[in-house]
Amino acid sequence: MRGTNGAGASPSGSWELAARGALLLGDKGELSPTIFAEMSALASSTGAINLGQGFPDEDGPAEVLEAARQAISEGVNQYPPGLGMPVLREAIAAHQERFYAIRVDPATQVLVTAGATEALAATILALTEPDDEIVVLEPFYDAYGGLAALARARLVTVPLRAPLFQPDLNELRSAITDRTRLILINSPHNPTGSVLPRETLELVVELAHKHDALVVTDEVYEHLTFGVEHVPVASLPGAFERTITISSGGKTFSLTGWKVGWIVAPERLLKPITAVKQFLTYVNGAPFQPAIAVGLGLPDEYFTTAAATLARKSGILGAGLREAGFEVSSPQAGYFLIADASPLGITDAADFCRALPALAGVAAVPVTAFVHPDRRDGYRSLVRFAFCKRVDVLQRAAAQLAVLKTG
Ligand code: PMP
Ligand code: GLN
Repeated sequence: MRGTNGAGASPSGSWELAARGALLLGDKGELSPTIFAEMSALASSTGAINLGQGFPDEDGPAEVLEAARQAISEGVNQYPPGLGMPVLREAIAAHQERFYAIRVDPATQVLVTAGATEALAATILALTEPDDEIVVLEPFYDAYGGLAALARARLVTVPLRAPLFQPDLNELRSAITDRTRLILINSPHNPTGSVLPRETLELVVELAHKHDALVVTDEVYEHLTFGVEHVPVASLPGAFERTITISSGGKTFSLTGWKVGWIVAPERLLKPITAVKQFLTYVNGAPFQPAIAVGLGLPDEYFTTAAATLARKSGILGAGLREAGFEVSSPQAGYFLIADASPLGITDAADFCRALPALAGVAAVPVTAFVHPDRRDGYRSLVRFAFCKRVDVLQRAAAQLAVLKTG
C-alpha cells in the first residue's frame, strides 16, 4: 500500500513494495549488487582477470551464431508464441530423448523461458505458498534465496561439505518432511562442481513420494561433466510425474547473454508455471530460439568436446592455484572450482576476494556468498574460481596468482 507521501515526495518505508523488497535490499533500503556483479565491477575497474562471474570469454558454436543472424535477417523479430517457438520446443524434446531416453510431448510438456533464472522464478512462484518449505543444498546459487524470499517461502538447507561436497544422506532425510513443497536440486552444482550420484537422486525421489513433495532440478551444467555421468532426476523410475526439469542454452553453448532456458515437466505442473511465466516476461529472445534449436541438434562430438575442453581448463587453473599455495578441490563438472585459501593464512575469503584484484590482478568470488550468514563456518576460507576462460587467460591468471606464495 502506498503511504501518505505527497505527490513528488520520496517513497517512505510505508510502501508495501518496499516492505516486500526489504528481503532483498540492504538494512538501509540500499540495492546491493549480486556478488557476481560486485566482483565483475571490481575486475573491470582494476583491470583484473575476471574469474568471478561465470561467463565464457569465447563465443559459442559458429552454426548457432549464424542461425541467430539468419533469423534476424529473415524477420524473426516479433513476439514468439507464449510457450516458445515450436522448432525449439521440438528440439528440447528431441534432446531429452536423445541424451536421456526421456520422451516428452513438445506441445504440452515443454516451456521456453528467459534463461534458467526465469524458469526457477516461475516454478517457485507458481508452486509454493507462503511458509512452504523449499529444501536446497547449501552452498546454493544466489537466485534460489532471492526467489524463495519473493515467494515468501522458507529455505531449508542441507550442507555440502569440503572436500567432496556431497550431502549426508541422513541430513537429507531429516530435512525433507511433510512441510516440504519443493526439493530443489542443482546437479552439476554451482558453486562446488559436484555431481550427485544416482543413489542420492533415487533417495530424493523416494523422499519426494513419501512426503508428497515436488522435485525441481536445475541442470544448467548437464553437458559439462568431467568423466562422471549426469543423471537427470526425471529419468529415474517414478520421478517424471513430480519433477520439474530446468536447463538453459547459456552454459552448454557458451551463450550466457542470450538467456534462452526451458522447463520440461508434466502438463499438470507446467500449466500453473506457464500462468506465472506469462506475467514475468511473457516471452523472450525470438531470433535466439531457433538458433538454440540448432545447438541442441549438434552432433555428439560438440557436447563431448565442450566438456573435455573445460576439464582441461579446470586442470590448468587448478594446477596454478595449487602452485600458488591453495588447497584445490577437483570439480566433477561445470565452470567452477573451489580453492581453500587457509594454507595462505586467509581466514576471511570475502575480504580476500575484495583484495585479490589489487594483490594478484585476478577476481574471484567467496563461497560464503552462497551460504546463509548463520551457517558460514566451514566455508569462510573458500574461494570460487571460474575456469570457463581461454587457456592463455588461465595461464596468465595462474602466473599472476603465484605472487601470493612469494609475496
Ligand atoms: N542455475 C545455476 C546453477 C546457474 O549457475 C545459473 C547461471 N550461471 C543459472 C541457474 C541461471 O541460468 P541462466 O543464465 O540461463 O538464467
Ligand atoms: N551463474 C553465474 C555465476 O554463478 C552468474 C550469473 C549472474 O551473474 N547472475 O557466476
